[in-house]
Amino acid sequence: MSALDQNIKKLKSHLSRFENGGIKHRIAGEDVAGGGGFFTTTSPVDKSAICEVARGDAGDIDKAAKAAKVAFPTWRDMPAKERKAIMIRIAEGIEARAEEIALCECWDTGQAWRFMSKAALRGAENFRYFADQVGTARDGQHLQSPTLMNITTRVPIGPVGVITPWNTPFMLSTWKIAPALASGCTVVHKPAEASPLTARLLVEIAEEAGLPPGVLNTVNGFGEDAGKALTEHPDIKAIAFVGESRTGSMITKQGADTLKRTHFELGGKNPVIVFEDADLERALDAVIFMIYSINGERCTSSSRLLIHENIREEFEAKLIARVNNIKVGHPLDPATEIGPLISAEHYAKVTSYFDAARADGANIAAGGEAVGDLGYFVRPTLFTQANNTMRIAREEIFGPVLTSIPFSTEEEALQIANDSPYGLTGYVWTNDLTRALRFTEKLEAGMIWVNSENVRHLPTPFGGMKSSGIGRDGGDWSFEFYMEQKHIGFATGYHKILRLGA
Ligand code: NAD
Repeated sequence: MSALDQNIKKLKSHLSRFENGGIKHRIAGEDVAGGGGFFTTTSPVDKSAICEVARGDAGDIDKAAKAAKVAFPTWRDMPAKERKAIMIRIAEGIEARAEEIALCECWDTGQAWRFMSKAALRGAENFRYFADQVGTARDGQHLQSPTLMNITTRVPIGPVGVITPWNTPFMLSTWKIAPALASGCTVVHKPAEASPLTARLLVEIAEEAGLPPGVLNTVNGFGEDAGKALTEHPDIKAIAFVGESRTGSMITKQGADTLKRTHFELGGKNPVIVFEDADLERALDAVIFMIYSINGERCTSSSRLLIHENIREEFEAKLIARVNNIKVGHPLDPATEIGPLISAEHYAKVTSYFDAARADGANIAAGGEAVGDLGYFVRPTLFTQANNTMRIAREEIFGPVLTSIPFSTEEEALQIANDSPYGLTGYVWTNDLTRALRFTEKLEAGMIWVNSENVRHLPTPFGGMKSSGIGRDGGDWSFEFYMEQKHIGFATGYHKILRLGA
């Protein structure tokens, strides 16, 4: 039996449990059908139905928020050692079911097995990393003044909402939920409607690991009802959101009446700048990896290639040969490099840029067409002869689509790179150290890699500038979001207190 057939067989056995009853909400440790009915989730691989999923409404969110509120004092006050032990057991549970998570994620999202098998393990790593910090998350400073001993301490903010997108949904959910739990917060999670499967597995694993009921609640459904209600709920103190920039803006408005604290990880149109003096073979590998892996459905993807005009022709020729050689196929085939796009809607959006490129006068040097009509497959695509005013250079396409733009000077490269509403990541390829220092200083991006693809190191700050986000994840930055800083001043003597009305 081929590796693909073996994976399909295993997947079928995992999915069979959803056949009867589908996926319900999980609130206070119980399955809840909710009041909004059900919707059918389908696979982008062949458009077949996977199962029915509860469509959460404001009433379901209210139940979940109340459950999170009730569970909050118990979780907040549980000794750090016990909370840490539960989080480690969650990591172990994820590792034990990594294959099931990866298979479900591939089928649900169209992501290729070769990338997703690792994404589940990275989810476990997120839990381990934040578990290690449970004991110190509340620690503060001692700031002596002449009359007071001032100390700072951090306390968890309360029940929080976590709203996640459909691209690498399992890993992204753990990225938010792990630090929230490590802080002592309870959580209501609203996963993306297009990818509900692995959020269900996560809450099951967490409960099996001993997480008390109500500490993590999952309400499925759509942004306009369940998502909106979560952002408006008065018991929810903060919203950690990953998704599109325009949704972030809507959440700001929705959360205004309840003064919601928000953390946004949003879209990007990230530049990779390749200078003449770079190691061009490594640069080529990184350019290809950072736009064509994970179907290009990746916020940090380098979707604009800024290439020095002296090396453009040769670099693009090599790029075209490699892009045409990328294997598009069934996501569960270990040889597949690109699977189908997530949904009919997203497929229509991505393919519409093939016409937009032509209309604006760019050249389609590779791809630019769909593959078959079984699922939402497109060929990896490269646009050349483009400039930064074209829609293909300004808008986030969020597919395996790269726009190549030439430059002639360092100043011009910087100007083009920064001429974008977004500012998530930037990638700079040069062997000139002083240029790298100069350039990265001025590049408008929350995260920059020099002579490297995106390599995530959990203690570093993750997040974007401009329309790409507000706030940072990772290390202590996560705790700053999920916790409140408190200052307490203790008088050290009898300093003079002004006596009014004496
Ligand atoms: P999206 O904004 O459409 O949806 C994200 C989530 O928000 C979903 O769960 C959705 O149901 C919910 N939602 C939609 N409308 C809402 C509303 N009015 N109120 C509350 N919730 C609402 O994004 P998507 O299409 O699922 O994901 C792709 C986007 O995510 C891309 O723009 C990508 O760049 C971005 N992203 C960013 C990062 C990052 O770290 N910066 C990481 C991954 C994805």
